[in-house]
Amino acid sequence: MRPPSVDVLARSLTDTGLPHPLLVDAARAAIASGVPDPAAEAARRARATASALLRPVINATGVLLHTNLGRAPMGHTSVAAYRNLEFDLQAGTRGSRSDHAGALLARLCGAESALVVNNGAAAVLLSLAALAGAGGRVAVSRGELVEIGGGFRLPEVFAQSGAELVEVGTTNRTRAADYDLDDLALLLRVHRSNFRMTGFTEQPSVAELVALARAPVVVDLGSGLLDAACDWLAGGPPAWLRDEPAVRQTLDTGAGLVIFSGDKLLGGPQAGILAGDAGLVARCAAHPLYRALRPGGLVLESLQDLALTYLRRDGETIAFWRMACTPVDVLRSRAEALDPAAAAACTSLTGGGTLPGVAIESWGLRLGGDHTAALRAAVPKPVIARVEEGHTVIDLRTVEPDDDALLGVALSPLSPR
Ligand SMILES: *Cc1c(COP(=O)(O)O)cnc(C)c1O
Repeated sequence: MRPPSVDVLARSLTDTGLPHPLLVDAARAAIASGVPDPAAEAARRARATASALLRPVINATGVLLHTNLGRAPMGHTSVAAYRNLEFDLQAGTRGSRSDHAGALLARLCGAESALVVNNGAAAVLLSLAALAGAGGRVAVSRGELVEIGGGFRLPEVFAQSGAELVEVGTTNRTRAADYDLDDLALLLRVHRSNFRMTGFTEQPSVAELVALARAPVVVDLGSGLLDAACDWLAGGPPAWLRDEPAVRQTLDTGAGLVIFSGDKLLGGPQAGILAGDAGLVARCAAHPLYRALRPGGLVLESLQDLALTYLRRDGETIAFWRMACTPVDVLRSRAEALDPAAAAACTSLTGGGTLPGVAIESWGLRLGGDHTAALRAAVPKPVIARVEEGHTVIDLRTVEPDDDALLGVALSPLSPR
């Protein structure tokens, strides 16, 4: 029997929605594999290609900043158009891409100036390269040399900057006097954002470091809570935020520069923000690495919109904060509307390497058995759930209410009533 033609096979797969060249690839690979049923093999390959594409999913894990789901929920609605990315509309001359999102973020956290780069790790790298440089000595506590996730270790990021890491103190105890060294270019404080240390521990406050420092104090806060007062939330700061240091208050204590991510507690797109003293920010902006680490217009516009929303004190329209602060009885009603027999209390996490050990009360559905594979196959939006003690848990805190209907459809074959 002759194998089917590549073209006929490719055309039989058009309902996957993939462009023709990708269907041709699937068809060719299927025929080349020599399996007895190339049509089924081509369809399997096309489905695999389609499911590898980026697309919206329903996050039913209850992890608000799910690293594998892009951390904070984000969208982009821009249509293709020229934008005044580096053009000063008033003067009619070249402008700076820090003039919009950067300036608004600085305004929000009470900094003189702010600069946006690709992510938090890039911001750390840039600050060390620009403010310490090759051979510049940077003091860091041995209790703060953290691994972020995915195997990335801050000491290795630091090494790429060329700066010399001067470890001070011990794993569990570091005192202000440990930083009292000559010839430092910087003092670096790294927030223990993804782990907790208890017991016989000691760590000086940022204010103590500032008091003795003869060099700027840079604080890598990681999580990016803008202001401890949370004035964008009608109900004020939620109780679970209690111990999280905030950008504005850290700058108020005298830190020269604060570094944080855009997609953690800020609730925006992947970005790293350096905010603080105008002279320090300008040195970072003038360093050649900035050119390699700066974000594009899509991210800057998304951050600008987010900053304007914070300035309007409209936390309800920031998906992360709206989900994080949804009252538990609202979640309970949604769960009971979906499936009263399966509705159950559960707990959400902030995730994304923030607030370790902090659980947020929530409600969702609890179904016997592991149904996660079937839920991942749901169309049009895959549903990502978690398994706990032999049950599939669907946490509604991280599900947009508008997706409840789709979720109901995805669940209906699982719990026949
Ligand atoms: C998350 C984090 C980083 C890395 O930020 P990315 O945006 O993930 O690159 C660096 N430092 C601390 C303390 C963090 O929490």
